[in-house]
Amino acid sequence: MKDYKRILVTAALPYANGPLHIGHLAGCYIPADIYVRYQRAQKRDIKFVGGSDEHGVPITIRAMKEGISPQDVVDKYHAIIKDSLERMDVSFDIYSRTSNKIHHQTASDFFKKLYDDGLFEEKETEQYYDEKAKTFLADRYITGTCPICGNPNAYGDQCEKCGSSLSPEQLINPRSTLSNATPVKKKTKHWYFPLQQYEPWLKQWVLEEHKDWKNNVYGQCKSWLDNGLQSRAMTRDSNWGVKVPLPNTEGKVLYVWFDAPIGYISATKELTDQWADYWCKKDTKLVHFIGKDNIVFHCIIFPAMLKAHGNFVLPDNVPANEFLNLEGDKISTSRNWAVWVDEYLEDFGGMQDSLRYVLTANAPETKDNDFTWKDFQERNNSELVAIFGNFVNRTFVLMHKLTKGKVPPFHNEIADELDKELIKSIEKSKTVVEDAIEQYKFREALFEVIDLARKGNKYLQEKEPWKKAQGNKEHGTSQNTSGQNQKLIDNCMHLALQLTANLAILINPFLPSTAKKMLHMMKVVDKMLDWENAGKLKLLSVGYSLRPPELLFRKVEDEEIKKQIDKLKGSPKETAMNASESNQQTNQAALKSTIQYDDFAKLDFRVGTITAAEKVEKADKLLKLEIDLGFEKRTVVSGIALHFKPEEIIGKQVTVVANLAPRKMRGIESNGMILMAEDAGGKLKFINPDEQTANGSSVS
Ligand SMILES: [Zn+2]
Repeated sequence: MKDYKRILVTAALPYANGPLHIGHLAGCYIPADIYVRYQRAQKRDIKFVGGSDEHGVPITIRAMKEGISPQDVVDKYHAIIKDSLERMDVSFDIYSRTSNKIHHQTASDFFKKLYDDGLFEEKETEQYYDEKAKTFLADRYITGTCPICGNPNAYGDQCEKCGSSLSPEQLINPRSTLSNATPVKKKTKHWYFPLQQYEPWLKQWVLEEHKDWKNNVYGQCKSWLDNGLQSRAMTRDSNWGVKVPLPNTEGKVLYVWFDAPIGYISATKELTDQWADYWCKKDTKLVHFIGKDNIVFHCIIFPAMLKAHGNFVLPDNVPANEFLNLEGDKISTSRNWAVWVDEYLEDFGGMQDSLRYVLTANAPETKDNDFTWKDFQERNNSELVAIFGNFVNRTFVLMHKLTKGKVPPFHNEIADELDKELIKSIEKSKTVVEDAIEQYKFREALFEVIDLARKGNKYLQEKEPWKKAQGNKEHGTSQNTSGQNQKLIDNCMHLALQLTANLAILINPFLPSTAKKMLHMMKVVDKMLDWENAGKLKLLSVGYSLRPPELLFRKVEDEEIKKQIDKLKGSPKETAMNASESNQQTNQAALKSTIQYDDFAKLDFRVGTITAAEKVEKADKLLKLEIDLGFEKRTVVSGIALHFKPEEIIGKQVTVVANLAPRKMRGIESNGMILMAEDAGGKLKFINPDEQTANGSSVS
């Protein structure tokens, strides 16, 4: 590590058009908070800034749809996001917002400086204009028919049905979402930032000087730079955002990705009069925590802007995480496929540390990872409760039983190998944890802490202090033996308690509210959590009396997990999927991409007969089918309830995908899928052999 005098940490600005979900937390807020809490414990000069990103097209669209002003939209979501972050103990020094005056001024000044230095290219282009609404239309404001798949509601930048990225020119029958009018082309002027001029410098700075960046970050930068950079428009036609600070530019604002990162600077200004120390002095270490979708903006565009401006430091590191998926599917705000943080905190009150734990243990640090409720329960119950919580609880219970609720002395003369080994582990963990955190490897650091608690459990198990106490009581042992036994008990409990104090220090960056509870039990002040105390063995004084144990974590029951899964599966996303399966379609679905024979050969289709069918409770679209495959009977859950009555289809032959992995739907395990044909009108028909065929016959 270079010799830095101060650290400035930023975490991505969440977009204020929806609440916070677990993907946001795992992507940047939890890792950033761990890093910051650790550096604070190290007594380093550090500031942690963030805020809501409140400009951009999706917010204006949302406002229009809800019939409210964009300010109303951002006020609503900024409050929800800020509250969720606070309740998750994400300890920003300031959490600001880009609709603040100070930000408008800062972003405006930044733009003006680049303009005055003659860095922008002024270009006139033709863009779509809505003559009825009298406004230029951003790509998102234009809808039309997708030329690739025929989806009639594709956007001017993307078709959400087939995933193609589009330009408005490609849409068939383009319409304005504002007025439904057909947009016309009109000339408009914008200011472009010539990124290509910074390409040689960026190649040197990123590719040569920052080989230490995470592989995923470095790789993405390299591919952008290898593909070559182009001028990028830094202004837009809109009335919502930071106004372009030039004469005769009514109806033009700064591009949201120009103004948003400047939000970090504005927030620091709002936080402290010393803001310039953090942004302009070379001995500042600037670290941006983000998700992978923001890499190009934080590693290429924003640094180029900072370089062009000339007064600011550049990021030392951008430890971006990959994505966190949810139950095997991409988290999506628009499809409501998410675990919303505010709802989690309602359902699991006081359990913010359990979520912080799971999101760190399962963090997408090097690749996309999957959050499942089962895994959440498993990690909470078998790691937090059974290892960490269990060790602390046992230690406190035993201490009250065997050493009168006080810290016993340590008798050096009888210390044995187990004691020495534990002491070594405590000392070593400190180094392992700090090295890992400094390298942004938070999972590794957390596992080390849990592993230390595991060693504590093993130590108690091997020492069995309760047996020695039992021996004293039962056998009326001699004074000597009894004294010796008490000394052994003392040593064991003394070390277990010092280990508990160490665990509080080490877990504090990850699970701050747990560390706080532990401080309370040990009757010590916050200062004990200073990192310099980690690895030490005299944290709790001999003879000091401690409080009774408190429960650090609680078990998560099957019932709670089932409730969460049901909630997720019953969300509009699932219904939307079913709806699109059965919907009136005016166009045939697009052909999927070509596969090789080997791909096809992996599928095992079999003929079967439906022997029983019933509706699935509380699921309008699902039928539970029993299917005889000849060699075995299968339960298959199928989304055909709106098309067929259960009694109508018993006895029908069907084609089953027989080697599909089982999937639980509404608590029922579905073992396979039946093939259906869907016509353009959305009607479903069974695919079956044209004559009765033996069940189990293979289809190829
Ligand atoms: Zn399409």
